[in-house]
Amino acid sequence: MRLSGVLGQRRALGQLETEMANRRLAHAYLFVGPMGSGRGSTALALFQALNCQDPGQTACGQCPSCRRAAAGQHEDLAVLAPPNDQASAQIKVEEVREMIRAISFAPFGGGTRLVLIRQAGQLNIASANVLLKTLEEPPPGNILVLTVQDPGEVLPTLVSRCRRVNFLPLEEGLIAQELERRGLEAKAARLKAALSGGSLGLALALDQDRLFATLERLLGHLRAPGGALEDWALAEELVAPFRGGERLDRQGLVETLDLLALYYRDAAVGAAGRSGAAFLEASGLLGGAPSLAPACRGFDLVRACQGQVLANAAPELALTVLLQGLRQEAPAA
Ligand SMILES: [Zn+2]
Repeated sequence: MRLSGVLGQRRALGQLETEMANRRLAHAYLFVGPMGSGRGSTALALFQALNCQDPGQTACGQCPSCRRAAAGQHEDLAVLAPPNDQASAQIKVEEVREMIRAISFAPFGGGTRLVLIRQAGQLNIASANVLLKTLEEPPPGNILVLTVQDPGEVLPTLVSRCRRVNFLPLEEGLIAQELERRGLEAKAARLKAALSGGSLGLALALDQDRLFATLERLLGHLRAPGGALEDWALAEELVAPFRGGERLDRQGLVETLDLLALYYRDAAVGAAGRSGAAFLEASGLLGGAPSLAPACRGFDLVRACQGQVLANAAPELALTVLLQGLRQEAPAA
């Protein structure tokens, strides 16, 4: 049977389909790949395929089992996840114990129960240790699926007990197509796809108006006369929305800078007389963009700054250095 309802990921799906056809599914899987690449959807598709009451080439999507699963209400589909997206959020040991107790009973529907443990890197040591034995030998009729972005997030003892399935970042074109299918206008779909880093989840969550407003603000700032003090003030303004108490959302800040990187990329593509990759062309923002060499340099500076922010640099300082660099090396015409 084919797994349905997942965008791209032919290889991961093919692996699971073959294992299912040969009745060689593992009882524990590690789904490795970027956020929003379809790991959760694949777990759902696998569950539906295993429990559909009217299966054909794929799960039917219409029977009570398929529908309850899609609505997140199937009693044999359990999800464990950290309580929120904060880096410090943990999957607590009591929750893992409760899950282990629950799966000691046969699946209610008589099929296969699937336990999805999202962001398994957030299992604390106690939780991971409690989980070990169950991963090695879950009660019959159960499949456990752990999702991580990188296997290094979890203890090697967990990794070694799971069969790995790799998920790749989705192609831009595929994401753009999917966004259009969901009703987005073509140009907006291509822009969001370009900014998504291969994650449909991120593409869907992107606030395009906010991103464009930030880009306009940045370009306006760079075109106006100003010095280090003005740059520092703008850096503070840009960083502020990403600070929550002690914590800084570095990833969010880096994503905000993606559109600036795209601006220089498209300026370079345009200056080189090439077309095809220029998402910003229609935005009107490329008017007065730098010529080829400074555009390349600008792109490089933005990427370097993003790397510094992710590597724990003081964000206001990294951004100020970026703004100074762009003023000197990638000025608009
Ligand atoms: Zn069905």
